[in-house]
Amino acid sequence: MVFLKNIEAKGFKSFAEKTRIEFNKGLTAVVGPNGSGKSNIIDAIRFVLGETSARSIRGSKMEDVIFNGTVKRSAENSATVTLSLDNSDGVLPVNEDTVKVTRILYRSGESEYYLNGGRVRLKEITELFMDQGIGKSAYNIISQGEVDDILSAKPEDRRAVIEEAAGVVKYKHRKRESERK
Ligand code: ATP
Ligand code: MG
Repeated sequence: MVFLKNIEAKGFKSFAEKTRIEFNKGLTAVVGPNGSGKSNIIDAIRFVLGETSARSIRGSKMEDVIFNGTVKRSAENSATVTLSLDNSDGVLPVNEDTVKVTRILYRSGESEYYLNGGRVRLKEITELFMDQGIGKSAYNIISQGEVDDILSAKPEDRRAVIEEAAGVVKYKHRKRESERK
């Protein structure tokens, strides 16, 4: 199974300096005082997976994720986050044991995405993770209230969650793409 090995963030929200957060296989709990940056870690994951809604990462505009300075340290011009995922069982169709996905956001609002160092479009990242349960709105992140949402969802919406878990989303996506051509 693919798992998150670490996150590196620089200039993203409260992570002004390059910060590396290590995860291991199994359960990791993040504890800390209010406002210390726990939720910012989740925002960082959503950010790399291509979140385009500022509200979903608790901002009013995308630029709000760029470190905006403190009395001791000036603001940054860009936010960079890299996720390193363990692919030693080759589940992701990338010929590497570690899959690194990076997003850089500039103050201009422009974003760049990289896959193991090579520049890619967001579409390639979205397709790579499709059906792996990994994505900005996939079930890799279950936020407060979401369990209730699933229970009270319309049958079609609940079906979408099951389809992602069953691994058929990419086929539906490809069918839609080919119908558009
Ligand atoms: P709680 O326990 O209350 O949920 P938390 O540990 O989840 O807290 P976060 O919401 O992750 O805390 O972090 C909030 C902190 O991130 C605030 O101190 C806020 O000032 C800081 N922060 C958010 N955006 C930026 C930014 N662009 N630049 C600098 N700091 C930021
Ligand atoms: Mg929080």
